[in-house]
Amino acid sequence: MLDAADPLAEYRERFVESDGLVAYLDGNSLGRPLVASVERLGTFAREEWGGRLIRGWDEGWMHLPTTLGDELGRVALAAAPGQTAIADSTTVVLYKLLRAATDARPGRTEIVIDRDNFPTDRYLVEGVARERGLTVRWVDTPHDGGVTPDLVAEAVGPDTAVALFSSVAYRSAWLADIPAITEVIHDAGALVIWDLCHSAGVVPTPLDEWGVDLAVGCGYKYLNGGPGAPAFLYVRSELQSELTQPIQGWMGSSAPFEMGQGYEAAAGIRGFLSGTPSIVAMQPMRDMIALIDEVGIEAVRAKSVALTEFAIELVDEVIPDATLASPREATRRGGHITIDHPRFAQIMPHLWGSGVIPDFRRPDGIRLGLSPLSTSFAEIEAGVRAIAAELG
Ligand SMILES: *Cc1c(COP(=O)(O)O)cnc(C)c1O
Repeated sequence: MLDAADPLAEYRERFVESDGLVAYLDGNSLGRPLVASVERLGTFAREEWGGRLIRGWDEGWMHLPTTLGDELGRVALAAAPGQTAIADSTTVVLYKLLRAATDARPGRTEIVIDRDNFPTDRYLVEGVARERGLTVRWVDTPHDGGVTPDLVAEAVGPDTAVALFSSVAYRSAWLADIPAITEVIHDAGALVIWDLCHSAGVVPTPLDEWGVDLAVGCGYKYLNGGPGAPAFLYVRSELQSELTQPIQGWMGSSAPFEMGQGYEAAAGIRGFLSGTPSIVAMQPMRDMIALIDEVGIEAVRAKSVALTEFAIELVDEVIPDATLASPREATRRGGHITIDHPRFAQIMPHLWGSGVIPDFRRPDGIRLGLSPLSTSFAEIEAGVRAIAAELG
């Protein structure tokens, strides 16, 4: 019914079919492959890698981190060219930006982060604080919510060097008020890094307009790059000459093929690269970014909201003793929902075995990730009813 009225329903057919799959509710952890990507990977291996061999670097690979970065910036981040690059993993680009940001605010002693942020983000902040002799200031957030301008205002001040938050909380799906929080942090004279892992490709985030300083995000979640696909980083153009990142590799140097003595960072966003980029793993990202461009990020978001609304209504109806651990208000919710129930840990193995694939999140949450272009309403219905049936 809802699928019949969905203007984006047909896009689901562009994804590779999976045998025995009843409901894939984890597209926010690992996006499904596009049929176009399977073809592109084969062609790439035969014609570009196999055919052009080392000449490929001169013929375009060298520039792919920045040309694809610009494309991602245009399609999903409303970012002007020259500020976004595809590189490394989220963990590594985040480390680079955390170091660059703390070093750019000498004399300030604190890094601010929320206690429920993704483990890699928290661990990196702890590590950078140790390296630089800084203190971590933790922001506590509600279980079904996340950071707000008020909570952030209490935590930042003249000692804050940098604050790191996620645009969409990985567990609760809380969608932060990015422009308002960015302003609060700027008023304190600090820099902000937004982790866009759970919003890139599903929630529009106009970074230039919102005055964001720095951002990172994931290539294998809603950008469907495949397991271990590279991440992206965004550095606002005005900050590029002011910031210095710590992993001084040859690919971020001003003249990689001169192989000269002494590192000199390349000008602009290229100076934020480090080592040889994963050209193979960027191939599937090209197809998903092109698909988001074809559909339009606002239309993707509209379907995402409709999917999470539908999932919440259905959970309320068929699993009434589960607790929604995500915002009910659509404007404050990202592309997934988490529901809590004491027996979820117990039923997970059988669900996965029967082709119903949500994600378990401690202590007792099931997270339903609804990637808009590959998930149907019927699939959500089958998945939620299967969870209800397992609970008996
Ligand atoms: C998925 C995710 C990561 C993953 O980092 P990797 O380096 O790819 O392992 C980091 N931060 C957040 C918020 C995430 O959701």
